[in-house]
Amino acid sequence: MHELSLTQSLVEIAVDHARREKAQAILSITMEIGSLSGAIPEAVEFAFDVCTRGTLAEGARLEIRRIPGRGRCLECGEETGMDFTTFTCPHCGSFALETFQGKEMRLVELEVD
Ligand SMILES: [Zn+2]
Repeated sequence: MHELSLTQSLVEIAVDHARREKAQAILSITMEIGSLSGAIPEAVEFAFDVCTRGTLAEGARLEIRRIPGRGRCLECGEETGMDFTTFTCPHCGSFALETFQGKEMRLVELEVD
């Protein structure tokens, strides 16, 4: 499962950070998941429960922010919403679309105790 290794590495970053701050526990973790990242939020939530077991993040609240896909046309410069079925620019019909948002999955906030 794709989400398991991604979630594992984000949990490790969070736990490392919490240790450096000498925190007793991680209360909540906020992640951004791009709609084009291929990661399914429900699968991330499941992976999160598994990965946090026995760590400082056990029992932490997981907040997931969905980031919509956005792209820019290299021909006409217009921006457009992107999903897995967007292959052409809706403004000029060009195939030269460049995705600049929505592929990321990252840690954005951490609340510790
Ligand atoms: Zn265009």
